[in-house]
Amino acid sequence: MYSLFASILSLPARGKATLHPGARVDAPATLTGLAATAMLPEMLFRLTFASLVCVSVWLTYRWTAHRFANAFQSSRRVDLPMQGIGRRLWRLVAEVLLQSRVIANRPIAGLLHAVVMWGFIAFGWVSMEHLWLGIVGLGNEPGPSWYRSFVASWAVVVTIGIAGLAFRRFVIRPKALGTPSLSSGVVAALIVILMATYLADWSGLFIHGSSGAAMVWWAHTLALLAFPPLIVRSKHLHLVLAPAAIFWRSDTTSRMRPLDLENEDLGMSTFNDLSFKDILDMNACVECGRCTDACPANRSGGTLSPKQVILQMQRGYRANGEQIAGTTQEVADSTAWVSEDDLMQCYACGACEQACPVGIEHVGAKILDMRRGLASNGSLSNERAVKLFGTMQRYPHNVWGLPGQVRTKFIADEQFPIFAKGMDVLFWLGCGNGYEPQGQKVASAMRKILDASGVSWGVLEQETCCGEPARRLGDETLFLMELSDKITDTFRSNGVRTVVTCCPHCTSMLDGDYRQLDEFQALDITVLHHTEFITQVMDRIPLSPKNMTAVYHDPCNLARGRNITTEPRKILRDCGATLSEAPEHGHGTMCCGAGGGQLFISDDKDTGAVSDRVNYRRLNDLLATSPEMVAVACPYCPIMLRDAAEARESDVPILDVAEVIADRLAHHGEVSP
Ligand code: SF4
Ligand code: SF4
Repeated sequence: MYSLFASILSLPARGKATLHPGARVDAPATLTGLAATAMLPEMLFRLTFASLVCVSVWLTYRWTAHRFANAFQSSRRVDLPMQGIGRRLWRLVAEVLLQSRVIANRPIAGLLHAVVMWGFIAFGWVSMEHLWLGIVGLGNEPGPSWYRSFVASWAVVVTIGIAGLAFRRFVIRPKALGTPSLSSGVVAALIVILMATYLADWSGLFIHGSSGAAMVWWAHTLALLAFPPLIVRSKHLHLVLAPAAIFWRSDTTSRMRPLDLENEDLGMSTFNDLSFKDILDMNACVECGRCTDACPANRSGGTLSPKQVILQMQRGYRANGEQIAGTTQEVADSTAWVSEDDLMQCYACGACEQACPVGIEHVGAKILDMRRGLASNGSLSNERAVKLFGTMQRYPHNVWGLPGQVRTKFIADEQFPIFAKGMDVLFWLGCGNGYEPQGQKVASAMRKILDASGVSWGVLEQETCCGEPARRLGDETLFLMELSDKITDTFRSNGVRTVVTCCPHCTSMLDGDYRQLDEFQALDITVLHHTEFITQVMDRIPLSPKNMTAVYHDPCNLARGRNITTEPRKILRDCGATLSEAPEHGHGTMCCGAGGGQLFISDDKDTGAVSDRVNYRRLNDLLATSPEMVAVACPYCPIMLRDAAEARESDVPILDVAEVIADRLAHHGEVSP
């Protein structure tokens, strides 16, 4: 750019400056020096350049102030945690610098995006230098020639990358991206201009001092100065905000925040309830649609789109809206922005958060919090949810509305030991394994494993539902006032130190949501999912492995919520299983359709054709691997999968990992079946 700058002024050369490797020309040493011989052109140049910089800065400032006008109210919740700073910094390296999520989720588009991003970093120095030389004077030496050559090679790569991305966006037009926006086209064009003009200068395409060279310099300058205001005004603000959103993202998906009841915080109802992280998230969205692509509710024909939830929140916030979520009619009337119907379709599976490349938290912090806001202010109209809350209030023992005697009879028939102070483990049955017949079989299997492990253990004579369906569906009052206190008191009075449960929903509640309650946290209880416990005691369990092929279905709460993917697989392999994998597995698992309270409120009639249903799709994927067994590790998943198996008349057994081990134990004759 240095040589072109000189050419614009068309001044006599006095010094030496590097243009590109091997090309050196006479050029003025400084602008000040130039002034002595050509005051007018220098002044004109400075005036024009300074004016353009001022316009760029002013527009950037104005549009930033407008976009974040309401962000810094004193009442705004500050949820920008700094715990685990090393982990957070590493996340920045992996996800921002190395673009790991972007590439993993969509390899080709991700790689194209990554090279553009890396090219931007490479360009950082020469772009700053370009502006700096414009301010301080041409005569100053530009950066080393090797670096300019390095950047030139990136200019080629970035041009290819941006052409590929533009082709995808404007020609292929994937549904997830939505209607191509003008700003996307403008930004793509600006990037191409920046790269092309840089290459033209670097390669010496135009003769020094020619008008062609001058035009190239100005084109580069204008493109560069247009970027900051354009970024602030468009979704390209993610360039600035994504690192912050990724840094402050929760460690697990779908995490709900504790409410501040003393300050009448009852969930997200109005735009005043947004936290800093919410505002960061809304403004960091790049509208890529990865979240909606991953969303099982959307994929099975539902209207819920996590991308649209974020964008609707963004629109409402920018329009100075008041109420965030409401009925379909309220959304149509623009008195609310996110529809309750959409919110109530969510499975809280966390697939959207897992897929989002910029660290947006759609689920616990927004969708479930909005459910909570609707329920708290009495405007939740979902009849099945409201009915469920009533049932749970009348029958706090379980979510099914069954009398407590069902569980009492079960533990008596099975001769489960009753927990007493000093025992190693409290085996927590939960609603899934204490009441539901198939779940009870898993509890029986777990009993054999606990016996074989050599720990002292027992179950409570009576249990209360942990409150997971109530909290996920929005009834915080029921969770806090009716259920959580009872469990905390029971654990305290029984001197519970370690809880083991077969239910990932109970695990996520007791080891996550309950830890937000000071009284529970003070008990310092260890909570383990049974796959974690079994892994710890596996060497004490006598096994008689039996060869078979199996596919393991990762429950969302376990894989994404707790990062447990290897333990169940190791257990199954130890039992002699040869595992195959469904296309979506591990952290990328697909929901069975039960989470987020859906097991208790969804109705098959809502989802049209059987083949569209989430559980049917999931079972299809699992059975496509031709397994002799589908293994699970949650009492809810088999309910959904068996329902689908019935529809497609499949007789492939669906078994919990505890049942698989117990079967191998029985063969050994170590424990009576
Ligand atoms: S949590 Fe799952 S169901 Fe809910 S919006 Fe995200 S991807 Fe969709
Ligand atoms: S929320 Fe995340 S995944 Fe969804 S469209 Fe926005 S940036 Fe993409």
